[in-house]
Amino acid sequence: MFKNSIAMSRPLLKVIKVLVVVSLLTILTQVGGIIYLLYFLVKNRIEKVWANTTRLRILKPILFVGMYFLFSLTLVPLLARYYGRVPLPIAGDATLKPLSAITWIFNRHYVKPALKDIAMGTASKLSKRYPGTVLYYLDANFPFIDGFALWPHLSHNDGKKLDLAFCYLTATDGSRTNKTPSFIGYGVFVDPVKGEADQPSNCKQLGFWQYGFMEYLVPQGKKEDFVLDKERTKTMIRLFSHNKQVKKIFIEPHLKTRMGLVHDKIRYHGCHPVRHDDHIHIQI
Ligand SMILES: [Zn+2]
Repeated sequence: MFKNSIAMSRPLLKVIKVLVVVSLLTILTQVGGIIYLLYFLVKNRIEKVWANTTRLRILKPILFVGMYFLFSLTLVPLLARYYGRVPLPIAGDATLKPLSAITWIFNRHYVKPALKDIAMGTASKLSKRYPGTVLYYLDANFPFIDGFALWPHLSHNDGKKLDLAFCYLTATDGSRTNKTPSFIGYGVFVDPVKGEADQPSNCKQLGFWQYGFMEYLVPQGKKEDFVLDKERTKTMIRLFSHNKQVKKIFIEPHLKTRMGLVHDKIRYHGCHPVRHDDHIHIQI
């Protein structure tokens, strides 16, 4: 009886496991869930003709990773064009780059062609003014479907949104650097100092626990090694604000004041999203 119920529950457990994996991959990468289902079909076929379990155990992850990269780097960019989205540059000596490889590996670097032109044009102007400067992008959008949010950014769902890292100075000698205190660009904040507007504290007091939660997920060990490069960051934000197609730029109020940024496109975003004193958000 007990043995029978175990035997009956095995297929059910397998289905649940597949559903969990597909859901997770879909939330994180949008297309990973579909690729996993294709891999599952291929794997089942191979298992029927190839009974060597040791070899199969080695082959299966290689097969999935291979299929994932093959689809992500070839088919997905082609199909994304039908949804009016293109990938941002991921390698080479471009002045616009992803800060973290996770961004492009997880297909989180798709935007409308107009936004790609704006970001690349701004990066090029910034590097002309400050030679050697690389503008790092963070999360953008998934390749397909308007309304499909890029978790945890609910508004990044239409190809029109892009997050960008700040520019920094090295704390020890004040020299310009392309390095950042956070390996993903988020979660290491340029906190308000005494006398500045402190919206992070206000939001926390109002019960918006998510506002600063990235600080608990990202290592803070390099925070004191960097200082915000007000000059380069201000220039970057002003270049974006002067572009007619850019409609909104989000940044924390204390940094807007600290950098002397005056433009009605540069706004505060409220307590519902996350802190914007580690990156800026632009939208067209
Ligand atoms: Zn954003």
